[in-house]
Amino acid sequence: MQQRGIVYFVGAGPGDPELLTIKGRRVLREADVIIFDRLVNPILLMETKSDAKLVYCGKQPCQHLLRQEDIHKELLIHARKGKTVVRLKGGDPSVFGRVGEEAESLSKHGISFEIIPGITAGIAVPAYAGATITHREHSRSFAVVSGHSKSRDGQPRVDWGALASGVDTIVFYMGIKHVTTIVEQLQAHGMKRKTPVLIIQWGTYSRQRTIEGTLATIVQEVSKAKVMNPAIIMVGDVVTLRKKLQWFENRPLSGISIFIPKEDRCDDSQTLQKWRRLGADIYSKPLSIKKRLTVSQMDRILELSEAEKLTFLSSSSVVAFIQSLHDREIDRRRILAEFYCMDDQTKEELKKAGFIATKVHRLSELNSPIVVGSKLELTSLGGFRGDGQFIQIDEMVTVREKQMMQRMIEEQHVNTLILTNKSHAINFLNLLKEIQKTPSLLAATCTIICEEQVGETLQSMGIVPAYMYKEKLGSDELLFAQAKVALPEVQIES
Ligand code: SAH
Repeated sequence: MQQRGIVYFVGAGPGDPELLTIKGRRVLREADVIIFDRLVNPILLMETKSDAKLVYCGKQPCQHLLRQEDIHKELLIHARKGKTVVRLKGGDPSVFGRVGEEAESLSKHGISFEIIPGITAGIAVPAYAGATITHREHSRSFAVVSGHSKSRDGQPRVDWGALASGVDTIVFYMGIKHVTTIVEQLQAHGMKRKTPVLIIQWGTYSRQRTIEGTLATIVQEVSKAKVMNPAIIMVGDVVTLRKKLQWFENRPLSGISIFIPKEDRCDDSQTLQKWRRLGADIYSKPLSIKKRLTVSQMDRILELSEAEKLTFLSSSSVVAFIQSLHDREIDRRRILAEFYCMDDQTKEELKKAGFIATKVHRLSELNSPIVVGSKLELTSLGGFRGDGQFIQIDEMVTVREKQMMQRMIEEQHVNTLILTNKSHAINFLNLLKEIQKTPSLLAATCTIICEEQVGETLQSMGIVPAYMYKEKLGSDELLFAQAKVALPEVQIES
């Protein structure tokens, strides 16, 4: 009998990626297929296996990509093939997350599933805004309510009388569109005009925004501030706690969301952790680009290498070369070439494999070299002029990185990009090309900060960084100081 798969319904939490449960992260790392919603923080996709299949069922308002029946089918198809499937949903899967419908369909077809709860927006988001959902003096009960219904006009279907008289704190999800109805109904059923109301948009992200008012004023405030989804509406006296309990917003780096590619296996530096404490969202992940030498590429190297100067344009090209030697059981002593490179990282990678290379600044310093690298790497050097041979290695961006970055850019989760070395810059440009975003779009939505030399590379490819720092990234303090200059709108007390 064919082995049956399993489906895990996992709550991803409201946004802050550290609000995912440990159990949720474990199954995410094990899964073969991940079917994820729009409100899941895309950085969580980087927790998945690099060859996992990722299916986006982005439910943007009015723009359903994958219909509910399609999601049911998708879950069944993969589970029947014996796969481990994660259905990743924002917040908690059972709070307005349709987990009931999806699990029912699995149960009907005899597929095993587990539900791994998550932290729901209605509790976490107010906590980040300094209004705890209960409080001994202000609120002994709360209700979470859908501010939207399946009916034709979409108006919420609620027992307004019971809600207005029986519950101390009310949190509406998906209610922004119907905020006028909500405040009118609550007042019509006896709630005072002065009842405090808090609207929180993009809660638990660095870009969290809050609008405070009362049942009498909030409609006007919302239209003035142009609040959009995702946002919750919180009604009740606990809102007044904010005066004392606000801790998350208005920190020195609030509103700053940084993507910074890093090396594999590296932990986040102290600087990044400090920035996080100062209120920034820090997305620090390796953007690995896979390279593989084909048999004919390797044959050409072998054929040419005896008399020639073998020049590698990046450490990742060296890794591909060494891997290919290994896979084809080629004795390294056959490579009689002199080795050259153009940066320290590449030199180091060659040294690890027992090849000592000479570093040069320009290809023109070499007579007839064989240059091994990617097209983008060569372009960044201004192309290949003069004698010699260029052996072009293809680069492959993993689907996971593509999906993550596409969602990050489309949802505007990142507004600052820090590129600390050239290979990161090239990998990033490769990724942009793959997701069909132009560098100018990136420059329009992102402040790009990079080291001076990286900046020159970027400029040669049409991207103008907002800030280039001169010194090497020696100390954390230095990078921090430079960020202060680079982000002038941010006031940081030293
Ligand atoms: N299952 C989710 C809710 C899905 S319904 C949960 O448990 O949180 C989607 C609604 O959740 C949004 O319209 C919005 O009202 C709310 N929401 C989700 N994430 C949010 C966030 N980060 N900030 C504010 N509201 C959020």
